[in-house]
Amino acid sequence: MAPPERCAEVESRLTEALLDRSEPEAGDRAHAEDCATCGPLLLEITELGDQLERLGDVLDAPDRLTDATILRVRSLMERERLGDRVPMRVPAGLPKGFPGECLRLLGAALLPFPIVVAWNLAFLALGEQVLGNVLPASLLSTVGAAYVAAAAGWFALLYGSIPILAHRRAQRRTAEVSS
Ligand SMILES: [Zn+2]
Repeated sequence: MAPPERCAEVESRLTEALLDRSEPEAGDRAHAEDCATCGPLLLEITELGDQLERLGDVLDAPDRLTDATILRVRSLMERERLGDRVPMRVPAGLPKGFPGECLRLLGAALLPFPIVVAWNLAFLALGEQVLGNVLPASLLSTVGAAYVAAAAGWFALLYGSIPILAHRRAQRRTAEVSS
């Protein structure tokens, strides 16, 4: 069994690599492949990396959204490292399992994304067909833009809340273990 400090280091470097969209270091990868603690995280990171890549290939907007989410996770982690107060008071350091929770939630939230986008595009196309005869073109594009802006707002809210949710879940789990 590897010492827990080693695993914590590997876990944080694996997460960093995902956030940077770079390959994990060979040593960390070798450790994770042999380690019962880090193994599942490596699998999740690999899967999530593939998912992000595919989404980025298909659509431009989700790529920007995932970038925004990643920035947000990173800034939360950075604040924790600097010992800043975060809205939910925590002891020094992130709760154990925070990166894992983040990845799980992000993965779950990304899965239906292409469907939601496709549905919205279909809805917009239908709206254009139905309203196209009624509304002047300039007004139609204004309505379309307002709809897209509203949808984007919801997406930002959904993906932006992931780090906070993950934080809370990891915290709750830690509390359950220690009580
Ligand atoms: Zn390990």
